[in-house]
Amino acid sequence: MLPKKEVIEQIIKGLQKLMRVQDWDVTLILLNDKEMEKTVGDSGVDGAFLDLHHNCGNIYINTSYEHDWYYTLVHELCHLQARMLTHAFRHLMGGKSERITLIYEQYINALTKTFINLCPVPTFNKIIQSNIDIVG
Ligand SMILES: [Zn+2]
Repeated sequence: MLPKKEVIEQIIKGLQKLMRVQDWDVTLILLNDKEMEKTVGDSGVDGAFLDLHHNCGNIYINTSYEHDWYYTLVHELCHLQARMLTHAFRHLMGGKSERITLIYEQYINALTKTFINLCPVPTFNKIIQSNIDIVG
């Protein structure tokens, strides 16, 4: 079940500190299917808009169905961690390459799974409770 918006926002802040991307201004936006279709152009999936030049971004979570919202948060924050790779790809490739995008997403998914294996929600909650500095 999806926690309250304030709780997810606290989790994002905690994850940002843990993943050392706390200099980013991340906004959580909860949308239902219809709003998601209008905003992101796809009703089925969560998503994010990340402005790599201005260190800000929105994370969109679809509230219309049960899914792994924690995975979405970690995945999008992994994109922030890997932003230098995105810059390098764009510089080297001179634009978007489908093959590079696919490989990059596979890398982000592998990173996300590794992080979640090491730090699933219960472990994350313990870290937050035992070290107030992480969220403070
Ligand atoms: Zn992605």
